[in-house]
Amino acid sequence: MKYEPPKFDKLSDMAYIDVCRLTEDEARTILENIRWPNGPVCPHCGSDNTTRLNSKSSAKTRDGVIQCNECRKQFTVTVNTIMHRSHITLRQWIQAFYSMCSHKKGVSALQLQRNLGLGSYKSAWHLAHRIRHAMKQDPFATLLKGVVEVDETYIGGKPRKTNNNSKKNKRGRGTKKTPVVVLVERDGKSISKPIEMVNSKTLKTAIREFVSKASTIITDDWRSYVGIGKHFEGGHKVIKHSIGEYVKNGVSTNTAESYFSLLKRGVHGTFHSISKQHLFRYCDEFSFRWNHRKVTDGKRTESAIKGAIGKRLVYSEMK
Ligand SMILES: [Zn+2]
Repeated sequence: MKYEPPKFDKLSDMAYIDVCRLTEDEARTILENIRWPNGPVCPHCGSDNTTRLNSKSSAKTRDGVIQCNECRKQFTVTVNTIMHRSHITLRQWIQAFYSMCSHKKGVSALQLQRNLGLGSYKSAWHLAHRIRHAMKQDPFATLLKGVVEVDETYIGGKPRKTNNNSKKNKRGRGTKKTPVVVLVERDGKSISKPIEMVNSKTLKTAIREFVSKASTIITDDWRSYVGIGKHFEGGHKVIKHSIGEYVKNGVSTNTAESYFSLLKRGVHGTFHSISKQHLFRYCDEFSFRWNHRKVTDGKRTESAIKGAIGKRLVYSEMK
């Protein structure tokens, strides 16, 4: 009996092999269903009174063009998204989204170029950054709450070998690496971002920006965190790493440390080197996967695609 591949109209049910089999028309239907679950809505005027133009009957009409019957403008599913005016096919976009959403440590641009058969490294690199941009969360919609662990680390380059006192370099002071702060809810969401330097001002600013006032903050006993408790109703609990204490009465920064170990394995294992300028995008990518870690790869991919709506990232603006 001849094997018939199953048909899908929703990413959430699909495995990578199913995504790779999509035709361009099927890929468009999937993207349209994610963007407009109740049918097309004009991105120019918001009307749902639209007509699908038939590309088969007119050579001038591109595939997927929809006409608004109110403002008379035409649009496709990629208008006003990171995919707008891209030469990459919709099936390649979906494959790229799925790959980046399903690999815990991320996928390099070189790997994407090979897997998707893209013409150049440059277009794979731009594609990957646009997907990271889609994964970026709105910080106001995702204010962290409950018990929030805060920690900082240094990313970029291998740790320097040093003959002198190792404690002196423990926090990466005096290295060329970029400090990154992570804020992570116990058993919940995370936010990470690069900061200019590690000091009381930068750390406290990040904490107050991303954490709701009702929360409890947990950090190690690094002096820059002293005094942060007065801004939070749950106060500030401290774990004394300086005297070798890692868990005490349920207080630890182990969740933050798991986050960093994943980020570092990605940075050193997958991406090898990340420029300081673009590091924040990788932070967005790792936080996105962390925050959607409890759902299927397909569902996670759908969430990332939803995040692509209303965003653009033009190559010339990234240099
Ligand atoms: Zn319209």
